[in-house]
Amino acid sequence: MSMATNRTGARRGATTWRHHKCLLRHRNTATWIKCAIGPRRVLWVSGHGSYAVISWCGDRNDVTVVLHTSLTEALAAVKQIDRGACGRLCTGWHEVVEVVL
Ligand SMILES: [Zn+2]
Ligand SMILES: [Zn+2]
Repeated sequence: MSMATNRTGARRGATTWRHHKCLLRHRNTATWIKCAIGPRRVLWVSGHGSYAVISWCGDRNDVTVVLHTSLTEALAAVKQIDRGACGRLCTGWHEVVEVVL
């Protein structure tokens, strides 16, 4: 299964991620999401909470993640980076994911 969905960024709301191909039990959202993102390099994960704003369009193909405690916060944050606060190579490919551990 591919994670490469919702490239347009047109749909807003959270995708829910419950599983990824892994038998480990991750203790926190940050490690969970790093593992779930898999082969792409996760440059950093910041913040805390179970709502992740993922920028797939960072420099050198790096993925960055900011965690938020509520969906409202995550959606507000993604709106901001949609306006170009993500990086110079930004293609607007940002996603909000609710992580269910
Ligand atoms: Zn894992
Ligand atoms: Zn971006």
